[in-house]
Amino acid sequence: MPDHARYRCWVEIHLDAFERNLKRIQASLPKGVRYIAIVKADAYGHGMPQIVRRLMQCGVDSFAVANTREAAVIREMGAGWPILILGPVLPEEATDLVRDDLTATISDLNEAKQLHALAKSHNTDLKVHLKIDTGMGRLGVWHEQALELYQALKSMPMLHLEGIYTHFSSADSDPEFTETQRRRFIELLEQMQPPPDCNIHADNSAGLDSFNRESYFNAVRIGLLQFGIPPYPHSALASAKVEPVLHFKTRVGLIKTLPVGTGISYGHTYHLKKETSVAVLTAGYGDGLPYALGNSGSVLIHGTHCPVLGRVTMDQTIVDVSELSDLKIGDTATFIGTSGTKQISASEFSAAADTIPWEALCSISKRVTRVYRAPREL
Ligand SMILES: *Cc1c(COP(=O)(O)O)cnc(C)c1O
Repeated sequence: MPDHARYRCWVEIHLDAFERNLKRIQASLPKGVRYIAIVKADAYGHGMPQIVRRLMQCGVDSFAVANTREAAVIREMGAGWPILILGPVLPEEATDLVRDDLTATISDLNEAKQLHALAKSHNTDLKVHLKIDTGMGRLGVWHEQALELYQALKSMPMLHLEGIYTHFSSADSDPEFTETQRRRFIELLEQMQPPPDCNIHADNSAGLDSFNRESYFNAVRIGLLQFGIPPYPHSALASAKVEPVLHFKTRVGLIKTLPVGTGISYGHTYHLKKETSVAVLTAGYGDGLPYALGNSGSVLIHGTHCPVLGRVTMDQTIVDVSELSDLKIGDTATFIGTSGTKQISASEFSAAADTIPWEALCSISKRVTRVYRAPREL
């Protein structure tokens, strides 16, 4: 029985494609540049344990996640792997850092003092990365105050400074501002003169396009690209030849023909322009299908684009199947992936719903079964 015969809505995760992507990205990194694998939000909806296991096998250098709960899943799978917490650590989470040997991000003096006190009270060193806000306006110490904080950290012997980093706001859209941020960061590093083993990183998937091989950078933070999705169209990385890993599919639950003028779905935002054969698919926003796909996106059935008619509902979505002649109940409909000679990429899927691939991927809900295809099974 093929996998699809058991599900109403599922994603296939092609671990073979994932492994090939990792090897290609690793091969494209200059020698000595460390690969920090970003696996927050359940590895961008792909499933943390399965993805993390492959990353460990493929020899990435370390992991980064949003919070200590996510980190605990990785720690459970292997001692010793460095795990960076990207987000602020809330007071009640601080002891998790000690328990699971995690690396915290420091954005201000207060955080540093509290963690140093915690380290003292547990009589242990705590690993930290200093984050500098060079223009993102989110986490990190504002770059004009960064040197001060760096000096203060030196007087906290139980905080072990293992990295310094920044984050780009517009790596995919504004190369000039990205360069400004890079320059601010490099100027600070020149004054700080961190030891050579300190991890210096700035680039996410999009930043890699302008990765500066000659300077201080010795690590990159890769998220989206691992999953085979270029961070923006025309990215130079499109030539890194990554392949899509996730395929999002559902089934045809009902087929019927409705007369001209019929209003479709809640609120009748669409009226049939002619007598039309429609299919009701067994997935809706309860599965993470964006509501904004209503009257905007399409699905692939038998290698043909079938437009979404009217609003997406919680459990069902209605599509126009008048182009198809031999449709049957139970046939597969593809939201993201290939069907026949046609393909809908995660980027196209997201664009049709006026969102970004990052959001679209982590919105695929718990109700959707993840089916893993391991290389040996293909
Ligand atoms: C999520 C995240 C990344 C990964 O970004 P991608 O664009 O998915 O590669 C890198 N750095 C930080 C700080 C992040 O929060």
